[in-house]
Amino acid sequence: MAAAQSPPPADRRDDVAPAPCPPVIAEIRGEREFVRRLAIELSHAPAPNSVPFGDDMAELGGDWLWTTDTLMDGVDFDARVHNWRQIGRKAMAVSLSDCAAMGTTPHRALLSLVLNDTLAMADGLDIVRGARDCGERFGCSLIGGDTNSWPHPTVITTTIAAIAEDGPPLLRSTACAGDRLFVSGPLGGSILGRQLTFEPRVSLGRALARGARPSAMMDISDGVVIDLARICEASHCGAILNAAELERAVHDDAHRLALQDGKAAREHALYDGEDFELLVAMPPNRVLAAEQLGFLPIGEITRGPGIRLRDELGRVSELEVRGWEHFR
Ligand SMILES: [Mg+2]
Repeated sequence: MAAAQSPPPADRRDDVAPAPCPPVIAEIRGEREFVRRLAIELSHAPAPNSVPFGDDMAELGGDWLWTTDTLMDGVDFDARVHNWRQIGRKAMAVSLSDCAAMGTTPHRALLSLVLNDTLAMADGLDIVRGARDCGERFGCSLIGGDTNSWPHPTVITTTIAAIAEDGPPLLRSTACAGDRLFVSGPLGGSILGRQLTFEPRVSLGRALARGARPSAMMDISDGVVIDLARICEASHCGAILNAAELERAVHDDAHRLALQDGKAAREHALYDGEDFELLVAMPPNRVLAAEQLGFLPIGEITRGPGIRLRDELGRVSELEVRGWEHFR
C-alpha cells in the first residue's frame, strides 16, 4: 500500500514535542506544605476557643467534632497480602485514633467505598464488617456512606462524628516550653503487623481529657518526629528528645525490623509511621498523672524552634524532620 503523502516540512520549532505539564503533585512538595496552603485557602475568623485548622478533628458545632481519613490500596494497605476485614478494621481504627487524639468520644461513622471493579461482593461486605465491628467496640455505629467502583485500586474513606463529653478537646497548638513529652506506648516497626491491628487509644484519650489535661496532644500517625514537629509548629515552640528515655520507648518490632534491614532500632522508633500511639505534652505538675496511666517519657518542649536529640553523653544535635508524608 502506498504511503500517504508526507505533509510539508514543518517549522523546526514545531518538531519539538511540547514539554509535558509538570504534575500538580510535584509542586506540592509534601503534605505539611500542602496543608499550610489549605489553611490559607480555607481560613476564616476562628471563634474564641475553637479548634484551629489542621488539628486531628474539626469542629462540627456545639461539642461535636468530626474527622475523615482515606486509605488507598498500595499505599495504606496491600490487598494482595491483607484480608478485607482487616483492611475495613484499619479504616475505622485510624479515624478512631483521631478521636482519641483530641480526647473525644466517637459516636457515628460513615464509610465511603471506591472498590476496584473486580472485587467480589463478599470482599466488599468484609470491608464493611471489619469497619462496623471495630467501630462498635468503641461505641461508634456505622450508619451509612457511599459505594462506587472503578478499574483502579480500592479507596476507603471513613468519617466519624464524636462529642467532647470529657472536657474541651485537647489541641496540638497549646504546648508550652517546659512541658514534658510522653507517648502512650513503644514506637517503630509497625509495618511488621501493628499497622493493621493497632488499638486506637480512645479510653486513654478520654481519661486524659477528664483528668490529667495535657497542654497538647495528638496521635502519632506519620512518625513521632514529624508529628512532634506538627505540635511544635502549631504551638510555636521546639522540642528536645532524650536518647536514654527513647531507648525505653523503642518497640520490640523496631528491634526485629532493625535486625532485618540493618538500620538502628531507634531510627525506626523515630521515623516509622502508623504507631497510632498518643503523643502528649504535660505541664511539669501533671507528669505523675501521665506516668500513672503508663505513658513513657521521651523529652520536653523547648522555647526555641527545631527538634533536637540529647544523646547519652549530653551532646545535643538537630534531628531531621521526616516521616511518612503523602506527596513525597
Ligand atoms: Mg491524627
